Amino acid sequence: MGQLAIFGGKPVRETPIYYGHQFIDEKDIAAVVDVMKSDFLTCGPEITKLEKKLSELTGARYAVAVSSGTAALHAACYAAGASNGDEVVTTPMTFAASANCALYLGAKPVFADINPRTYNISPEEIRKQISKAAKAVVAVDFTGQAAEIEEIREICRENKLVLIEDAAHSLGTTYKGKPVGSLADMTTFSFHPVKTVTGGEGGAIVTDNEEYYRKLLLFRSHGITRDSGQMDRAPDGDWYYNQIGLGYNYRMTDMQAALINSQLDKLGLFKERRRQIAERYNKAFQDMPEVVLQEEIAASDTARHLYILQFRLERLSATRKEIFDALKAENVCCNVHYIPVYYFTYYRKMGYKKGLCPNAEALYERMITIPLYYSMTDGDVDSVIEAVKKVVAYYRK
Ligand SMILES: *Cc1c(COP(=O)(O)O)cnc(C)c1O
Repeated sequence: MGQLAIFGGKPVRETPIYYGHQFIDEKDIAAVVDVMKSDFLTCGPEITKLEKKLSELTGARYAVAVSSGTAALHAACYAAGASNGDEVVTTPMTFAASANCALYLGAKPVFADINPRTYNISPEEIRKQISKAAKAVVAVDFTGQAAEIEEIREICRENKLVLIEDAAHSLGTTYKGKPVGSLADMTTFSFHPVKTVTGGEGGAIVTDNEEYYRKLLLFRSHGITRDSGQMDRAPDGDWYYNQIGLGYNYRMTDMQAALINSQLDKLGLFKERRRQIAERYNKAFQDMPEVVLQEEIAASDTARHLYILQFRLERLSATRKEIFDALKAENVCCNVHYIPVYYFTYYRKMGYKKGLCPNAEALYERMITIPLYYSMTDGDVDSVIEAVKKVVAYYRK
């Protein structure tokens, strides 16, 4: 295959490819432009339409669009009642927001280790981490594959915990035939550009629970309501509104909602193409003794967000960083999802220590996320495969 580009050889690709990229077509652009010519830039009809679409897609009774996936998690933890002294159990193998949402409310994130084969939070490990202070579980559908939600839901039921599913990766995934969004007490989505469907920024929460729904609406907009039924005094007049709790401005604009609505029309296409790419990767890598693939569970029909290779470093004369850098020199620009959350300085200063979740820590040392997004051509996919094979062949012991 020739010399590695990092040592001066010719790179597999002439131009760089990155681990993720949004796909925006003319319809998406026209949808946003239409809003800009309309009367409502925020709190308008595109928000209503998005919330209706998300309800239909997930089968959940209520949907609330918010400004980001992080705001969605914050709002869900608030609606769950998490506050000072409470604990929220989550996985360390996630983006920091899945744990930060507890901290915003004065609650403490508690990390439960992952299943070393699926990389999703382990139900048995959740059980071990539940204390009297536990209030909620934030289960992440890592890479788009549904967590073991049935088992986790049972644990939550037994322990009277609120189950929040962080579905930032898994919009469009079904679990045992049921859509993500219909499985947990509340499910949160993100529409950041690296996610399957984007609005630039954006997020949403879906739920069947009317009480949560009302809390989410208040939290999104300062704790303010115009509904006289929720007020303890009569309105002064038609202009009147009242603040009955403390919320934020977590609203989404109608431009974002219009973009997401237009993108949602392509969700089926996005899911199918991502599945095809993942299958091509599976085929190419499944017989390579130097890599381990993420185990796929039969219960999850996955809308795949990330594709992860775990390198068996004992069979290679390179570190993960050397492999990562060699791929980059071949113009295959990868990423690592994720640094265990409690490794961050902010968490260490709170007293979290290395050793907490050995499976997540071991995975972190060996993992690389390779490119996966809708608009990759078969040629792009093949070039990624070629680059991985070239680098592995070079470092093979
Ligand atoms: C992206 C992401 C978030 C945060 O979403 P934003 O829209 O970027 O705020 C939360 N959790 C997970 C697992 C994510 O991947």
